[in-house]
Amino acid sequence: MSQPSPSLSFNLSEDQQILTQEIRRFAEERIRPGVAERDKAHAFPSEVLAEMGELGLLGMLVDEDYDGAGMDSLTYCLAIEEVAAVCAATAVTMSVTNSVCCWPIDRFGSEPLKREVLPALASGQEIGGFGLTEPGAGSDPGAMRTTAVQDGDQWVLNGEKAWITNAGVGKYFVVLAVTDASAGSKGISAFVVPSDAEGFVVGTAEEKMGLRSSRTAPLYFTNVRVPGHYLLAEEGAGFRIAMATLDHSRLGIAAQAVGIHRRALELAVDYARERQQFGVPIAKHQAIQFKIATMANELEAARLLTYYAALQDDGKQAGRLASQAKLYASEAANRACWESLQVHGGNGFCEDYEIARLYRDVRVTTIYEGTSEMQRMVIARHLLRG
Ligand SMILES: Cc1cc2nc3c(=O)[nH]c(=O)nc-3n(C[C@H](O)[C@H](O)[C@H](O)COP(=O)(O)OP(=O)(O)OC[C@H]3O[C@@H](n4cnc5c(N)ncnc54)[C@H](O)[C@@H]3O)c2cc1C
Repeated sequence: MSQPSPSLSFNLSEDQQILTQEIRRFAEERIRPGVAERDKAHAFPSEVLAEMGELGLLGMLVDEDYDGAGMDSLTYCLAIEEVAAVCAATAVTMSVTNSVCCWPIDRFGSEPLKREVLPALASGQEIGGFGLTEPGAGSDPGAMRTTAVQDGDQWVLNGEKAWITNAGVGKYFVVLAVTDASAGSKGISAFVVPSDAEGFVVGTAEEKMGLRSSRTAPLYFTNVRVPGHYLLAEEGAGFRIAMATLDHSRLGIAAQAVGIHRRALELAVDYARERQQFGVPIAKHQAIQFKIATMANELEAARLLTYYAALQDDGKQAGRLASQAKLYASEAANRACWESLQVHGGNGFCEDYEIARLYRDVRVTTIYEGTSEMQRMVIARHLLRG
């Protein structure tokens, strides 16, 4: 039986248009100054994030009952695109707090937990994170070894997480741990773990090739105790929660890629108009025009797929569409940064030119929150299941 077609409108609402303009102005005025210096110094943008918190940009998906902005996924994607077009590192800090920390707590947390942690996260007083990956469990999170054991009305966590965005700057982490080793993926549970808990240790920050002003480090847990109500949903629901979270959060990575792509195109256009070779601006050469046309074409396709997926974030196909958007947008943005740097010639290879930072920053978009290979597996699994 054919499914009803979702209705499509190509116009953003007035509120969405106003918000987009406001965030664009904020990003240009408050994030752009110092962005290259912060990148060079690997300096976390604490002040910028505090201001973003005050504007409600860190709790966009959180219900208004918990001081969130209560916005929809499309509006969230619009905001991420604007921030990523100026600083992809700030965008990932924003997206992690919003979508892999606040979102699962808002959806699966107990009422007392939500009252306790969401207002601080949504207002930007505290930053959040998500601990799924481990040294031996990346694309295969089911291989995780971190454990949580119940002790009276508390849970005790032991283990190690790798590559954790916002480690060292975040207060609340959604952490996945094995609670029943004999139950496979149904033996994994999700907890909120505060960074000030005894036994919670942040490792040395990774020296990354891109997103250098975002913080990424391992986390170590030694007999870390959390109260019983810090368990999300029920025992054994963790793997389902993690997958649902990623199904949603991939929209944010798709939007981040769209923002980087947009900026790479703008930079290519500006440079092509200015740079003269063979007596004319290089924009007059057809080879350069074709690169710009392809970048523009793929940008529109990536953006539309991201919006389409965001509009159906609660539908049956939500996971597949978010994977398709993340896969396409991240690969297209990588191609665009590669081509934009090519348009810049030797100058593009120099850190004085913004495209060099974009080229480094965009690389990870096909890796985190599931590699391109994993996205293809998710998409195929959806299509091939009986
Ligand atoms: C900057 C950064 C920030 C991150 N932030 C977080 C975070 O906040 N929280 C968190 O939990 N994690 C985070 N991660 C981890 C990230 O999600 C993982 O790096 C990612 O899931 C891939 O895992 P891996 O690096 O172990 O690669 P691996 O799983 O080892 O994969 C290596 C290669 O093998 C391929 N591969 C693996 N299995 C298969 C298969 N079955 N079929 C085909 N190909 C396969 C992969 O696609 C990849 O190309 C972050 C990573 C980075 C780089």
